Amino acid sequence: MVNINEFYCKGCYLCAHNCPKQIIAPSSKRNGKGYVVPFVTSPEECSNCKTCELICPEMAIVVEEGVN
Ligand code: SF4
Ligand code: SF4
Repeated sequence: MVNINEFYCKGCYLCAHNCPKQIIAPSSKRNGKGYVVPFVTSPEECSNCKTCELICPEMAIVVEEGVN
């Protein structure tokens, strides 16, 4: 399961651009700083590779193993 902490997100979309499954996309929500925050479009397709967690410069993403 991919947990995105919207509070820390700065809307850079490095997570989306680097997800090998291409399952991270802009949501319809903005956080308190005005950034459009991402969401996982197809959680069942996530491979738990943690690329998004590792690449997020704000450490806003935590991938939980084994739970989609
Ligand atoms: S990489 Fe992090 S800061 Fe950038 S859009 Fe994704 S969650 Fe937000
Ligand atoms: S863990 Fe990997 S497959 Fe899942 S959303 Fe993040 S980058 Fe994409």
